[in-house]
Amino acid sequence: MIDPFGRHITYLRVSVTDRCDFRCVYCMAEQPEFLPRSDLLTLEEIERVCAAFMRKGVERLRITGGEPLVRRNVMALIERLGGWIGAGGLKELTLTTNGSQLPHFAKKLVAAGVKRINVSLDTRDPDKFRAVTRWGEVSHVLAGIDAALDAGLKVKINTVALKDVNEDEFGDLMTWAHGCGMDLTLIETMPMGGIDGDRVGQYLPLSLVRARLAERFTLNDTDYRTSGPARYVRVGETGGRLGFITPLTHNFCESCNRVRLTCTGTLFMCLGQEDAADLRAPLRASYHDGMLDEAIDDAIARKPKGHDFVIDRRHAAPAVRRAMSMTGG
Ligand code: SAM
Ligand code: SF4
Repeated sequence: MIDPFGRHITYLRVSVTDRCDFRCVYCMAEQPEFLPRSDLLTLEEIERVCAAFMRKGVERLRITGGEPLVRRNVMALIERLGGWIGAGGLKELTLTTNGSQLPHFAKKLVAAGVKRINVSLDTRDPDKFRAVTRWGEVSHVLAGIDAALDAGLKVKINTVALKDVNEDEFGDLMTWAHGCGMDLTLIETMPMGGIDGDRVGQYLPLSLVRARLAERFTLNDTDYRTSGPARYVRVGETGGRLGFITPLTHNFCESCNRVRLTCTGTLFMCLGQEDAADLRAPLRASYHDGMLDEAIDDAIARKPKGHDFVIDRRHAAPAVRRAMSMTGG
């Protein structure tokens, strides 16, 4: 699949639920309106859409949410998808999780063929963690990370940079993560979805974070890239890798290789644009995949050049109305 700007689409992110056991302040309101369960694709339908994308050249799948590990029976899907790794044409199956369920799932993920996961962790301070996630206990997540490492998973920590919340902690988080053999990636808050709080007040540009870290650490630029949008440096003092995802201060759209499927079967061709394609109707209209294939081709032909996220006082409304938990971060 090649989009109108010549980008090869080889990566599909699949949100399997909009629900979550946390309520992170930058992601959801405290009482979000969740979708009725009847709107969700079944696990079999999700698998069928993934299969269609793989026939068209997708090589990497990332399962996300909401919190993917709270979807009932999600391991059945992960096991089926894991069966396609290698001879089935899939190069990699990964997961983004808040980590709370990992003590239960880590070994099962490895058995299913998952080798790498991203765990979101904004702070290791129990009080701050409760304040950011509203419902979360950091000890559960840290136990989850230990379980993942023990099971042999490669773990990357994702941290959203939040002004006045964790801005004094990045050096410590990085030293801890690198000490455990984990990369750390810092992410700028993106203006997505209605939240109860003040998005402008949360926003912390990573250019500033990087400059501050550079006063304490030696940050050496590297060419290292994953299939994601992060730019990495190698940290002299720890030997570990530190990534920056900067949708607001640095646009990464020119190398975008991905599209995102929501749990209701809507395909978003760009995280930061409203245009979307409904795949659920063609999926359900026929047991044959002709209509589904056609809908996917039409969608890729409309993939936009990029997003135009802006956070400042003049743009107080979210750039897109849907939350990250819906599209899958
Ligand atoms: N629940 C899982 C988790 O937290 O990892 C997976 C879904 S979550 C939506 C995926 C990632 O999106 C998390 O790392 C989260 O911190 C990030 N995220 C959510 N809302 C965001 C926002 N408005 N701006 C930047 N990152 C956001
Ligand atoms: Fe849940 Fe992840 Fe959103 Fe936090 S960021 S509320 S853990 S979906």
